[in-house]
Amino acid sequence: ALPVVAIVGRPNVGKSTLVNRILGRREAVVEDVPGVTRDRVSYKADWIGRQFMVTDTGGWEPDAKGMGLAIAAQAEYAMRTADAIVLVVDATVGATATDEAVARVLRRSKTPVLLAANKVDSERMEAEAASLWSLGLGEPHTISAAHGRGTGDLLDKILEVL
Ligand code: GDP
Ligand code: MG
Repeated sequence: ALPVVAIVGRPNVGKSTLVNRILGRREAVVEDVPGVTRDRVSYKADWIGRQFMVTDTGGWEPDAKGMGLAIAAQAEYAMRTADAIVLVVDATVGATATDEAVARVLRRSKTPVLLAANKVDSERMEAEAASLWSLGLGEPHTISAAHGRGTGDLLDKILEVL
């Protein structure tokens, strides 16, 4: 079976946009209104000749009761089933309480976890991601899923841990 890369994080941070960027096509549903991705959807992807599965997660209303728990549960599931996990956060917002709760779960993961600081659309936004070191998941990898900035480097890092 192909290795599995799970993309987790709270609604609207750009998980599905990142999945589409990884796939090189629009297949995961991106919505300005968050909460549209079904619980889990997996796609076959490849990067520099290596094939893997990428799993998009989501499907929660942004302020729904229990959303944080649902995301933590996805993270737990990813820890059991995936070979690498990417926690996506919105660098323009910074770490929210929900991000911190999910990070707390992922910090005890034996599965490698990469932190992606998304929506860093330009060089001058790079500095905004520095505060995300506080999540305790190592270096925040700055990316712009929408524009493709930094996503190649992130994919290289993902393949290193697969
Ligand atoms: P998800 O709920 O985490 O799957 O987030 P989506 O992929 O559906 O994206 C939510 C919103 O963020 C959409 O309006 C996207 O266009 C926007 N978005 C995603 N990635 C980026 C990015 O790199 N930069 C900017 N500026 N917006 C982004
Ligand atoms: Mg989504």
